Amino acid sequence: MKPHQLTSHALLDLFTSKQASPKEVYEDIVARIQSLDPKVKAYVRMAFKGPDFSGQMPIPIAIKDNMCIKGEEITCSSRILKGFHPPYDAGVIERVKKSGGVILGLANMDEFAFGSSCESSCYGPTFNPWNLACVPGGSSGGSAAAVAADEAFWALGSDTGGSIRQPASFCGIVGLKPTYGRVSRYGLIAFASSLDQIGPLTKDVTDCALLMNIIAGYDERDSTSVNAPVPDYTKALVKDVQGLKIGVPKEALGEGLDPQVRLLIEEALALLQKQGAMVKEVSLPHTPYAVATYYIVATAEASSNLARFDGVQYGLRAMPASTRKNALIDMYEETRARGFGDEAKRRIMLGTYALSSGYYDAYYLRGQKVRTLIKNDLDEVFKSCDVIVTPTAPSVAFKVGEKISDPLSMYLSDIYTIPANLAGIPAISIPCGFSKDGMPAGLQLMGKAFNEEMLLRVAYTYEQNTEWHLRKPNL
Ligand code: GLN
Repeated sequence: MKPHQLTSHALLDLFTSKQASPKEVYEDIVARIQSLDPKVKAYVRMAFKGPDFSGQMPIPIAIKDNMCIKGEEITCSSRILKGFHPPYDAGVIERVKKSGGVILGLANMDEFAFGSSCESSCYGPTFNPWNLACVPGGSSGGSAAAVAADEAFWALGSDTGGSIRQPASFCGIVGLKPTYGRVSRYGLIAFASSLDQIGPLTKDVTDCALLMNIIAGYDERDSTSVNAPVPDYTKALVKDVQGLKIGVPKEALGEGLDPQVRLLIEEALALLQKQGAMVKEVSLPHTPYAVATYYIVATAEASSNLARFDGVQYGLRAMPASTRKNALIDMYEETRARGFGDEAKRRIMLGTYALSSGYYDAYYLRGQKVRTLIKNDLDEVFKSCDVIVTPTAPSVAFKVGEKISDPLSMYLSDIYTIPANLAGIPAISIPCGFSKDGMPAGLQLMGKAFNEEMLLRVAYTYEQNTEWHLRKPNL
């Protein structure tokens, strides 16, 4: 086996026993990227800056193109941020660097994380390593594809409505959205500040725990960061679900779910039951409103966050060929017209409308109220359940181009992932089998706030009883 095929925990064992050196592993994975990435296009930019390999955990990692790294160009895969070089490191980047992590490059994403397919990137799409005609999911599609293609051991993604979990599911890997406040958002270019959370994309559950140990923790520069003790997540890797209570929402296995995915979820539940867990049907009556609520709250916050990109301080500045109004207004308009792609413009318009006077009460305020109802439903179920299980996505990966002209059908890809963001709770996606065309599917586990350990425990037990995570795409 070549080093790039290994998990990070297998790699760390090799480092400890001196059977491999960080430098040779780095060279192996760089060669892998150079030979394969012209096909997969997981990366938008490499960050080969001569790492020194002196840290504790010199694991090569890919970073989504929306986290600030001092001195690198960071663009959110948008034309409007071309040429933006942040003057500081994001909180998570500081932590990765401190651990000795080797940053390989910036991973492709949907523009400003708006999307579920990685097709709205200004650099063009990333392709799914399991079938290059399919999307890798999004918005952290480059991060997921890099890990699935063995072009990185770990990746960081961000998840506002499913952007870590859905691509993890489409690419057959593990993706965790931590509790809101668990991981610092300092230096993450904001999409929707009340929903965004950074998290790991990895080859297995053990790697997920290792990366969580590095990135979790309080950061006073993020006002929503929570100052609570961080456990050693590897201690949660216990192969035992005896007596745990698993809730399965009756709303989750109904209409709109691909029957192949449903079958895999039912098989996964049967396995967990066989391991001693108790599975029971529960109800989340307000979840049918989750997608609509999300597209009010998320677009409202996005329209406000994106107001700062006006050609003055960041990235692109453009002027029209001839004067239209006055120089300043002309510059704003031309920069935003040329800088943002179609989906970003659509979200800015939706969000501005939802916040505008006269409509605020009917849309944004009502959205916030329904958000509370959705959270209350989850709280109620967690009174009698340890975890809630659903599919991660209603289908396996779809074809490139299939949904690009139908935003509504694209928005529905997030039907299972959005409730966790609205409620701020943690949720993980793990591989749970393959469609008859050989495309991976994902099982989602949701847990109580700050109980990532419960998710890791159940995920680990499932993983150790299956072999899905060991399969590799044939590239
Ligand atoms: N696909 C969802 C959206 O388009 C979620 C994106 C995300 O989590 N960043 O908004």
